Amino acid sequence: MTALEALNKILRTLYYTFHPKHLFLSVRRRVLRKTKTLFHGELPSSLFIEVTGVCNLRCVICHRSHIREELGEMDLGTFARVARIFPYVESVCLMGIGEPLASKNILEMIAVCKSYGLSVGFNSNGVLLTPSLTKDLILSGLDTFVFSIDGATKEVYEKIRIGSNFDKVIENIKTFTEMKKELNRNNPILGLEFVAITKNIHELLPYIDLAKKIGINKIVVSHVITFSEDQEKEALYNHSDPRHQQIWNEAISKARDLGIRLILPPSQAVENSNCRFRPWKCLFVSWKGDVKPCCTYLHSLPLLYKGKKIIVPTMNFGNVHKEDILNLWYSPEYIKFREQILNKKYTEICDCCLYSKELIPA
Ligand code: SF4
Ligand code: SF4
Repeated sequence: MTALEALNKILRTLYYTFHPKHLFLSVRRRVLRKTKTLFHGELPSSLFIEVTGVCNLRCVICHRSHIREELGEMDLGTFARVARIFPYVESVCLMGIGEPLASKNILEMIAVCKSYGLSVGFNSNGVLLTPSLTKDLILSGLDTFVFSIDGATKEVYEKIRIGSNFDKVIENIKTFTEMKKELNRNNPILGLEFVAITKNIHELLPYIDLAKKIGINKIVVSHVITFSEDQEKEALYNHSDPRHQQIWNEAISKARDLGIRLILPPSQAVENSNCRFRPWKCLFVSWKGDVKPCCTYLHSLPLLYKGKKIIVPTMNFGNVHKEDILNLWYSPEYIKFREQILNKKYTEICDCCLYSKELIPA
């Protein structure tokens, strides 16, 4: 980073911190949260909104094909009802079990979030980006954009992300970084997400080189959630192979050398750990407006963990079309559920969920 770029970054940070509108929104949020805390317990700080359940790919690591419910797109009316809680939260992640860029309303939804001064981001497979959409996203004020890429080569990547094109996605990332420079914008911060399985683990080190080459400074690695016997064979935590830990160690040192922030879960499960999703801090809303405690309960599907098969039931605490979202957050059933998880009184589903084993970074 040149001295001029560093100065520019400092000035922007000052602008966003001390701009009267942002100051006002931040103080208002704190007051509202404090007031509600006094009467009802803490409000969520992060919101996950499934803007669409539609996707353009058929990835082998994905559980969309196992979902037993209808998947569709959230309309702006439903989004407006969810936005009732925006004055109280700090960040919004516009994603669920679909591709956020497949939503025709994505730019408008970002604009609504930004009008509340919220930090907003999502993960994307990056296939649907065009130069014009990239420009709109940069100008929208989006804070983070994470590309889901699970390989460093076309050969491995396209065996996992079925229907995608490695060269096109890499080109889209390059366009994104170049356009940010042209528009003199620091945001959105770009990142990469790598779902590690036996098929691609040997590419983790070249992947860090690739990130450096295409100008990305943050990588998040997570383990695969499994829904079938075939996927179970792919999960690294089902193999006690010392080479995996060695790759982990080398990845940490390579990332450090290249100045890349690498977020790695442990290579093996940590049993009976704290739920990393933290349903007392985060809230999930499905595309239909159903209020869910976490992403594992987002849709009904079969879950498989170390040979144990379990069906995730449909669980929600109400729908934003029938009840105000704040009332749903404070419903006695929801409070009871949050308290149980906070006290590690896990459900049968939690016992098979990677968020309770540190296998998915928070
Ligand atoms: S891009 Fe994401 S939502 Fe779409 S199939 Fe792949 S993993 Fe699933
Ligand atoms: S551990 Fe339980 S509450 Fe936490 S994400 Fe998993 S299913 Fe949800």
